[in-house]
Amino acid sequence: MKVIPLEAFNDNYIWVIHSSDTNAVTVVDPGDANPVIDYIEQHNLSLETILITHHHNDHIGGVQTLKNRYQCQVFAPKRDNQPFSDQDLVEGDTVSVLSGEYQFEVIEVPGHTLGHIAFYGHDSLFCGDTLFKAGCGRMFEGTPPVFLESLQKLAGLPHKTKVYCAHEYTLANLKFALSVEPENDAIKKEVEHSQSLRDKDKPTLPSTIGQELEFNPFLRCHQDSVQQTASKAAKTKTFSDPVRTFATIRQLKDNF
Ligand code: ZN
Ligand code: FE
Repeated sequence: MKVIPLEAFNDNYIWVIHSSDTNAVTVVDPGDANPVIDYIEQHNLSLETILITHHHNDHIGGVQTLKNRYQCQVFAPKRDNQPFSDQDLVEGDTVSVLSGEYQFEVIEVPGHTLGHIAFYGHDSLFCGDTLFKAGCGRMFEGTPPVFLESLQKLAGLPHKTKVYCAHEYTLANLKFALSVEPENDAIKKEVEHSQSLRDKDKPTLPSTIGQELEFNPFLRCHQDSVQQTASKAAKTKTFSDPVRTFATIRQLKDNF
């Protein structure tokens, strides 16, 4: 499956999924219509579908313009109740795109927002602002147990799953991850690797679920090293509760 990132705003990526045998494409979270229109016109493509993960403007800002221009189909989370949605999605739904060439399973992942969904299929995960490379989204609408359960669902996907998240936050996330686990060699290695990509202006994405399990502190809330840092920050004796660990490191990240 050919997936191409389009840059938008300061650090958003709009992912373009290409059909293998026609000029049809699907885009995920077009917060801005302009980069999508430029890409489509430049390459003579036809926009067939838009997939939406959640209601924030940097993910939906371009939808109505694109829909008016290309008469494409829009799939969005049911809970967000968007006027532009042609099909409202809930957990377990299957979305078929590009004339049935690709199917994605809908996974509800509340936490960043309560209606947030992710799309999973073909060894790929489009997860918006829920899971980032080496990090996770801010907890705007959810609570720690709810958000952690969502992350845990994603952590349970096959290790080879490619993680297409919506922002280039990797270097800042890794810096924080290293402050949580100073001894973690996977983080140190990834700092070097991601830094070299950014030096060449290349995206650090996608990562894989297998990699995230090694360097993403928010997927490592059951690890002693992460729990120790959380306990220290909370100024209590060492606790081993993953939810409390998640709540504490999420807060640490907010103030990092
Ligand atoms: Zn967001
Ligand atoms: Fe965002």
